[in-house]
Amino acid sequence: MIIGAGPAGLTVGTILRAASVDCVVLETESREFVERRPRAGVLEEWAARALDRRGLAHHLLERAERHTACEFRFGGAAYRFGYGELTGRHHYVYPQPLLVTDLVREYADVRAGDVRFGVRDVEPGDLTTARPTVSYTDPRSGERRLLHCDFVVGADGARGVSRAAIPEGHARVARHDYGIGWLALLAQAPPSSDCVLFGVHPDGFAGHMARSPEVTRYYLQCPPGDDPENWPHDRVWTALRTRLEAAGAPPLVEGELTERRVLDMHDYVVEPMTYGRLFLAGDAAHLVAPIAAKGMNLALHDAFLLGDALVAYLLRGDGGGLDAYSDACLRRVWDYQEFSQWLSEVYHGSAGGDPFRAGTSFARLRRLFTSPAAAAAFAEQYLGSAEHY
Ligand code: FAD
Repeated sequence: MIIGAGPAGLTVGTILRAASVDCVVLETESREFVERRPRAGVLEEWAARALDRRGLAHHLLERAERHTACEFRFGGAAYRFGYGELTGRHHYVYPQPLLVTDLVREYADVRAGDVRFGVRDVEPGDLTTARPTVSYTDPRSGERRLLHCDFVVGADGARGVSRAAIPEGHARVARHDYGIGWLALLAQAPPSSDCVLFGVHPDGFAGHMARSPEVTRYYLQCPPGDDPENWPHDRVWTALRTRLEAAGAPPLVEGELTERRVLDMHDYVVEPMTYGRLFLAGDAAHLVAPIAAKGMNLALHDAFLLGDALVAYLLRGDGGGLDAYSDACLRRVWDYQEFSQWLSEVYHGSAGGDPFRAGTSFARLRRLFTSPAAAAAFAEQYLGSAEHY
């Protein structure tokens, strides 16, 4: 049983179906909704290659843009960081709705996987027995259904039920709150640069990320819990122009704002990611604020390890992958959490009015452009390309 049809759940499902293992995916939303929900867009190269090895990257490799640089803007100047030149590696920009659409098609239409959309009140049970259960309410009949299975994959994101099914005392939840918000925006406007832009400004951070030739994601640092209604069109574009200003840079291309919501920036990590026959994957197990664009990449990393481990156990009786699953995932999770925290200080340190924090955060930034060793370390972490975690 897989709870949640996001990148993590669908990837585990397609790996199981490719090995002819039966499974059921339960999803509270409709297919149309999950295929349109805008979120991530930056995919690390290793993740795209891992999808490709499983036959899941056909459209992605055809359509995704390759990004090889990012640009920091501060003090009215632009500093381009060419990590592609430095490492020979790149990011893919492929909007999450497109990836989810590819995965739903592959799981449900191509590999005839069972996915039940629109279910309600999903409840995992008997997780420490050899035959756990998952019950849910059927959206059409309104009746309760009970399914027995070998394993439950909890891939239901940050607000799902799986994490809460672990009784107190069986897992530790480590939390971190940045104490800031990001206004997440989608603009119907072409990107204003060929790369990701990070504006480090006394008013707060601003980010620019291409999503497609017609759509650009922007972020603006704001107070946590701020009301998006406080950010009408003109205020948004004035703040973006101010915080992303750099001598000689072309003006931002404005467009209608089709998404405007405030994300309170916080992280958590559940350790271990397993309880009996429940295996958490993706945001259900660990949330990483979108500071370094890592969440979907971690969700995919979990899914590859878990899908392969389940296949090894169910087809060959080899339980090594399942035993090692939580530790193997958490090494990369903590590495990415640490990098996000480090980068957060670069983005936000100069905006709090504290001259000491501003001084140290600018020192971090300058080091990227003056020390080859610091630049190489940043590139490795930004690309998620370390060989061992
Ligand atoms: P989800 O995508 O949340 O999927 C979980 C699924 O479970 C959902 O479909 C949900 O409807 C369903 N569900 C929930 N509760 C239940 C239930 N009780 N029963 C059944 N189903 C349920 N990451 C990156 O790597 N790069 C980026 O550039 C990036 N940008 C981001 C920008 C924004 C604005 C945000 C919010 C996130 C961003 N992320 C990024 C993070 C990324 O979107 C998430 O980490 C990713 O979606 C996690 O995938 P998942 O499958 O674990 O969870």
